[in-house]
Amino acid sequence: MKAVLLYRQIYKLILTLDNILNTYPSKLLENAVIELSRLPGVGRKTALRLALHLLKKEVSEVESFGSAILKMRKEILFCERCHNISDAAICPICANSKRENGVICVVESVRDVMAIENTGQMTGVYHVLGGIISPIEGIGPQDLTIESLIQRVSGGNITEVMLALPTTIEGDTTNFYLFKRLNQFPVQITTIARGVSIGDELEYTDEVTLGRSILNRTPYESILNRKT
Ligand SMILES: [Zn+2]
Repeated sequence: MKAVLLYRQIYKLILTLDNILNTYPSKLLENAVIELSRLPGVGRKTALRLALHLLKKEVSEVESFGSAILKMRKEILFCERCHNISDAAICPICANSKRENGVICVVESVRDVMAIENTGQMTGVYHVLGGIISPIEGIGPQDLTIESLIQRVSGGNITEVMLALPTTIEGDTTNFYLFKRLNQFPVQITTIARGVSIGDELEYTDEVTLGRSILNRTPYESILNRKT
């Protein structure tokens, strides 16, 4: 009985503390904090800090901040060909005649396109899957842009499909699924090399990565010939 009473008292105390922490002097501020805290990685405290920061700004500054986000959400398009984010029906990469349209690099997300583009080494085009196959998260092939990729490849003129997916079980599963689907077409299917990172000491590299870098070794001469 005593334990139940103690439990009730603790519960009341928690509720009171929660109320104190979530008491805002303005409903408008509270609404802003609730909306900001819906963003990934933003907790209530950070949301409050951001809201108070915005309150200090000029109205015109906050207006341009808000309209930039709204405009992005309303007007941004996805490329009809590769599903990359775009301001037009076809993205600048697909529209660029200097790109090798026959080489498609398959990636999980738009962020990967940006990362690979930053290397300056990709001369082909992309295909953004919009995720990877993950039975645990309930993501199947039908939830991704795989059919659109198959259509692109079946249309001909594609010489290589380069799979640049994460080095996880889900990434490997997706690689295998895509390989099975694309194998029927006269196209070379490659995966990006996986190995030791630049600056890594071999003794600290895990054995799977080190093993893969041994298997994926390339002739030294070809590295010398590569322009860096
Ligand atoms: Zn595109």
